[in-house]
Amino acid sequence: MATAVYPGSFDPVTFGHLDIIRRASHSFEHIIVGVLHNSAKSPLFSVEERVKMLKEETKTLSNVDIESFSGLSVNFAREHGAAVILRGLRAITDFEYELQMAQTNRVLAYDVDTVFLTTSLEYAYLSSTTVKEVAGFGGDIDKFVPPLVAEAIHQKMQRRKGVINH
Ligand code: ADP
Repeated sequence: MATAVYPGSFDPVTFGHLDIIRRASHSFEHIIVGVLHNSAKSPLFSVEERVKMLKEETKTLSNVDIESFSGLSVNFAREHGAAVILRGLRAITDFEYELQMAQTNRVLAYDVDTVFLTTSLEYAYLSSTTVKEVAGFGGDIDKFVPPLVAEAIHQKMQRRKGVINH
């Protein structure tokens, strides 16, 4: 299989995302991770910060590139000549939304298909949202994200607290 795009928020990247990227890098010639610039959400990290962290954490995977994008995933895929959108599936709760998105994308772009990789068992529970919640309450996030990402989350949280306390 040739090129796949892997779109998402990645706010921030977790071991779950990295596991999907690493495994998919064995099956696809080229993976382009697309960091979504979504003005409707208020992310913890800017798109630039998310791209930088992903670049750092995937630097040993030579067929993986990281880019930001806005708009539709199918357009992002087409712009890169990718026939596949890659997504990760954790649980039934992901399935309903992901199925709906995949079917919508199929109607929008018949030439682009969605391929799912199921989560590795050890990361089945893991989401960026829960990592931020745990960190917000001072919990240990070392099992969820790489050290550089954990450090970046702690710094953001500190800065936010500083802003609130002043
Ligand atoms: P979204 O794109 O919905 O904002 P994310 O950026 O968090 O979600 O995730 C991007 C993709 O990675 C989605 O397909 C999501 O299901 C998948 N994913 C997130 N966490 C995990 C995990 N722990 N294991 C497998 N897949 C995951």
